Amino acid sequence: MSTERRFTIVGGGQSGLQLACGLLAEGHAVHVVQNRTADDIAAGRVMSSQCMFDQALENERDLGLNFWEDNCPTTDSINFTVPAPDGSGKAIDWNGKLDRIAMSVDQRVKIPRWMAEFERRGGRLTIQDAGISDLETYARESDLVIVAAGKGEIAKMFERDAVRSAFDAPQRALALTYVTGMKQRPDHSAVNFNLIPTVGEYFTFPALTTTGACDIMVFEGIPGGAMDCWKDVKTPDEHLAKSKWILDTFLPWEAERCTDIALTDDNGRLAGAFAPTVRKPIGRLPSGAVVLGLADAVCLNDPLTGQGSNNASKAAKYYLDAIIAHGDRAFDEEFMVATFETYWSYAQFVVGWTNALLMPPPPHVLNIMGSAQGFPELAKRIANGFDDPRDFFPWFAVPEEADAYLKRLAA
Ligand SMILES: Cc1cc2nc3c(=O)[nH]c(=O)nc-3n(C[C@H](O)[C@H](O)[C@H](O)COP(=O)(O)OP(=O)(O)OC[C@H]3O[C@@H](n4cnc5c(N)ncnc54)[C@H](O)[C@@H]3O)c2cc1C
Repeated sequence: MSTERRFTIVGGGQSGLQLACGLLAEGHAVHVVQNRTADDIAAGRVMSSQCMFDQALENERDLGLNFWEDNCPTTDSINFTVPAPDGSGKAIDWNGKLDRIAMSVDQRVKIPRWMAEFERRGGRLTIQDAGISDLETYARESDLVIVAAGKGEIAKMFERDAVRSAFDAPQRALALTYVTGMKQRPDHSAVNFNLIPTVGEYFTFPALTTTGACDIMVFEGIPGGAMDCWKDVKTPDEHLAKSKWILDTFLPWEAERCTDIALTDDNGRLAGAFAPTVRKPIGRLPSGAVVLGLADAVCLNDPLTGQGSNNASKAAKYYLDAIIAHGDRAFDEEFMVATFETYWSYAQFVVGWTNALLMPPPPHVLNIMGSAQGFPELAKRIANGFDDPRDFFPWFAVPEEADAYLKRLAA
């Protein structure tokens, strides 16, 4: 245990509450400021598909925040499919088993439970939409203020890092559809990932929602393409119908699983878009005080590779470890930059991999993804890369490395 320090965390989502509980366990005084009540979150729209892999789940287990191990359906593999261009079936189809299961707990279930748990463990929770003047107050009251506000407006106080941000506009039209009644795969559960060239991606996997087990459908439409189709969709029925239309049109094997689906609830749907953005980690207040950004607030990825919640969990862990190691010293700018850079030494690979997949795949990536059908070892390696995308480098990123690796596999 270290000396008690005072922390304020603005934003009680995946990263904020996980870090808050970690700091409480170290004996610190922690104040979380959250702009929505637990009831609002539980009864509101879905926010994410939040599929989390083993390393991120371990961080939750370490803090005793894994309340759903017994009733959340597991995801046991990654399945990758590309439809044949002539509509005759699947051009590529392979399955790679995960070494350890993945899980998705609807944030409408997780976050209210974590808010209650944080208070039960002695944390102070304030419901308030924090603005800059509130940050000034927290900075005076606290040894360190951390902004973990995700895609909230306040994150714009952190300057966009033009060198680390590959895009300045959304790269996909996103939609989520939470359903019951999807036919399960005959073998084992999977993130069923379908890449439809020039149109976009669709993936689906099991999850736990407010009403029990469900499946989440995630649509990633290339802007201007046929799957960029949500703007006129207003009602829950229209949302479900549009989801089924996409599968009927492009992915008959997925449509076949969905003949009897229904929305889990009227709020089990979402459509929107945002630009993947990396920001500078230090936010400067008018008084000159500084605050530190965490997770999506400063490193926001497209959901294509399902990494945001995983990143948020890992970022919270990097920050917790840095705070513990810092002991009694002041949390100055040097500490803030060093802490973010330690996280970035991991996150840069996630960002690089995700951004690469948002672009039309170059020949060496097509070669890798196609070859996995013939090499189960490669399929398994790609699947397990979702748990730690550092393993994709350099062989996924550098054409010569890809060729050399595939030659080794063939030999
Ligand atoms: C369509 C979609 C699908 C996704 N699928 C996946 C997936 O399969 N796997 C995965 O790992 N990730 C996925 N993600 C990403 C993942 O949900 C996020 O990356 C993750 O929740 C980020 O955690 P965070 O703590 O940074 O922010 P959040 O979890 O967003 O928490 C931020 C919190 O701050 C609060 N807040 C905002 N502004 C203020 C303010 N001014 N004052 C007080 N509180 C404030 C918000 O209400 C919220 O509670 C997906 C995201 C989307 C949009």
